Amino acid sequence: MLTTTRIFNFSAGPAVLPLPVLEQVRDHLVALPGVGMSILEISHRSRTFEEILRETQADIRKVGNIPGNYNILFLQGGASLQFAMVPMNLLPAGQTADYLVTGSWAEKAAKEARKFGQVRVAASTQAENFARIPDQREIALTGDAAYVHMTSNNTIFGTQWKTLPDVGDRPLVSDTSSDMFSRPLDVSRHALIYAGAQKNLGPSGVTVVIIRDDMIERSARASGALATMLSYKVHADNGSLYNTPPVFAVYIIGLVMKWALKAGGLEALARVNERKAAKLYAEIDRSGFYRGHAHPNSRSLMNVTFRLPSEELEKMFVKESTAAGFDGLKGHRSVGGLRASIYNAFPEEGIDALVGFMREFERKHG
Ligand SMILES: *Cc1c(COP(=O)(O)O)cnc(C)c1O
Repeated sequence: MLTTTRIFNFSAGPAVLPLPVLEQVRDHLVALPGVGMSILEISHRSRTFEEILRETQADIRKVGNIPGNYNILFLQGGASLQFAMVPMNLLPAGQTADYLVTGSWAEKAAKEARKFGQVRVAASTQAENFARIPDQREIALTGDAAYVHMTSNNTIFGTQWKTLPDVGDRPLVSDTSSDMFSRPLDVSRHALIYAGAQKNLGPSGVTVVIIRDDMIERSARASGALATMLSYKVHADNGSLYNTPPVFAVYIIGLVMKWALKAGGLEALARVNERKAAKLYAEIDRSGFYRGHAHPNSRSLMNVTFRLPSEELEKMFVKESTAAGFDGLKGHRSVGGLRASIYNAFPEEGIDALVGFMREFERKHG
């Protein structure tokens, strides 16, 4: 017999999607209403898809309150390709890019950028195994930095910037892969925002890039020396249709945006996310059996990282929780322990169930 029971999916990414979105995809998979073909079969040049693309962009703009001087692009290659495209397009020879190194993804971004230009680490919390976000006073920016790169949420370590760093008039570039649209964000303080979709926005295969007009101009100056597919200018000029975009992934992002709007938008989603995370952190802090990795004032609302008194107990926790229908709780090897990824679409019942499981586990093994 086919099992269609959904378990609680705590995966860091690709991650849980809203159930109503999955149900709509299922209902319309064989034939889009009024089209008679599957979304998997239609041309990216068709009127149907052009409308889907335009509407998805418009809904992203609505959800994120994105001003008119920003372009919304759908690219491929994941957030990891943005680690290269950002410096290739935005870091001219002879200038320096500042990186705020707050975790493994931030480190990877800085390392990749070094292949293309001069990079400075303007702040790092590596010495503390990235357990916190640096304070403004610890950030030493280059006067005329080409841009400042940050990672808004550190998926592996479970930390998150609570306010944006003050970078003056330097362009701020943010990797928001794991907390995009989990809370209101002030787009106007950024020059470029990118996010691999597979954590909070949709399925894998598409990266959303929100880029200000002046950065497109800067990209235009770099583009002559770049492979066509690596130029922001090319993708912006062609409305993300220079080549075949990931049609299915864009379609699903469109459905997720409709779901987010129906849920009340970013303020409403943020309230739910705060409540969900608070329940888990309260359980972690309750008795001392569980220990959070992140400093309390840097705690992520999306990825909750915690340890148990021994690695043996951690292994046991993974095994027993998996058997109980909680998937994906094993932490990343660089932190160890456990990680509960609780993105927008993660249901609050799953949090309550995990808290219940944690109490029972402590009662049995504590
Ligand atoms: C997952 C993740 C990435 C890597 O994304 P890919 O799309 O797999 O390249 C980069 N940055 C952050 C913050 C992430 O969470």
